[in-house]
Amino acid sequence: MGRLVKGLAFFLILFLSSKSWGYYTEKGINFWTAPDHTRIVIALKQPAKPYISNLGKTIVISFKGRIRPPYKRLININDPLVDRIQIVNYGNLCKVYVRLKRPNSYRLFVLRRYKNRPFRIVLDVLKPAKEILKEKEARIKIGAEARRRNKYVVVIDPGHGGMDPGAIGLYGLVEKDLVLDISRRVVKYCNQEPNIKALLTRNGDYYIPLDKRVEIAHEYGADLFISIHSNKAPSRKVKGVMAFVLSPRGAKSNLARMLENIENAEDIVKDIKFTNSRNINKIVLDTAQEFSVTEGERAAKITLAYITYMSHMKNMGIRKASLRVLKNPGIPSFLLELGFMSNSEDAAKLTSPSFRDRVAYAICRGIVSYFNFRDRIKRVRYYMVKKGDTLWKIARDHKTTVDKLMALNNLKSKKLYPGMKLYVP
Ligand SMILES: [Zn+2]
Repeated sequence: MGRLVKGLAFFLILFLSSKSWGYYTEKGINFWTAPDHTRIVIALKQPAKPYISNLGKTIVISFKGRIRPPYKRLININDPLVDRIQIVNYGNLCKVYVRLKRPNSYRLFVLRRYKNRPFRIVLDVLKPAKEILKEKEARIKIGAEARRRNKYVVVIDPGHGGMDPGAIGLYGLVEKDLVLDISRRVVKYCNQEPNIKALLTRNGDYYIPLDKRVEIAHEYGADLFISIHSNKAPSRKVKGVMAFVLSPRGAKSNLARMLENIENAEDIVKDIKFTNSRNINKIVLDTAQEFSVTEGERAAKITLAYITYMSHMKNMGIRKASLRVLKNPGIPSFLLELGFMSNSEDAAKLTSPSFRDRVAYAICRGIVSYFNFRDRIKRVRYYMVKKGDTLWKIARDHKTTVDKLMALNNLKSKKLYPGMKLYVP
């Protein structure tokens, strides 16, 4: 019976949304409010050269041609930077008036036709540098406060956003929305844990450059960074969950890049002390990157196990790749690909809010379990046995008992020798 209902629901989803497969329709004018800018994208019927004039509180973009329908002639944005947009046609000349809340700097660029995307004019209205700096300081403060309370900081990064929708899947699934929904649920569950502070790189539909995501994680002083995505494959048979960690080649190229611009590196990786010696910097950065990859792999393994156990999705294991968002020296990092939106089985599951919730809960359990592991490692220390030491003395000095020491070290006899390494609690 349960199976029949499920089958019917599945059929309905398939039937209702089959039309949306493979298409991504945008309006002629779109906008996204990001923390540091507002992006306005104008999609045109034909490529055109835009001209810009700045009238203080109004920016005018003019071009010869037509905006792709549908769009409204008046769009109220009303975010911190932009008030509204008005479109006026003068014959074949089109003018887009962007009314700002106050005069601000901006950047204008065009995007050529790409796959099924049209020619676009992009205007970014930029937030003043002072305010961006304030937000950055706020992030540093939040991270420091969490550490002061002995909490682990985990930064969850929902992939894509804004004009970058990511993959478009079956049943109308859009990656940027799916991963934001799951990421918010992960953060909600993690913040119910007493020893975890979870934060998002983006909490809305806007795009953040990959470098900026890494920077945000460093500002929070993350102990773990997880970028959340969902996959698409040419073959609709491919399904399952997998994780990516940085490949040795990717790590090497990042090391070279950071060494070239050590001031820039200093700005991103605040928790690492750099010197005037290129060699020392190289070793320090290399060690930090290695730590991120090995620990990232460990965390990924645990998390994958929880996801596949609780969601019954196929475990496709861990791969290595040179991904920008994983170039994160000092922070254990991995990227999750939660199912294939091109596979009908995975996609049907991912459309269900309760399924997303279960996946998010599984990710949180993975994170908790990984941090428990880090706790155990932190608690265990070595003691190097010196001449004249006895088990009783070492036990007394470390506030434990001989029995506990023997169990911890798997000792058969109480005999010690100088130079012997003992685990102490
Ligand atoms: Zn993605």
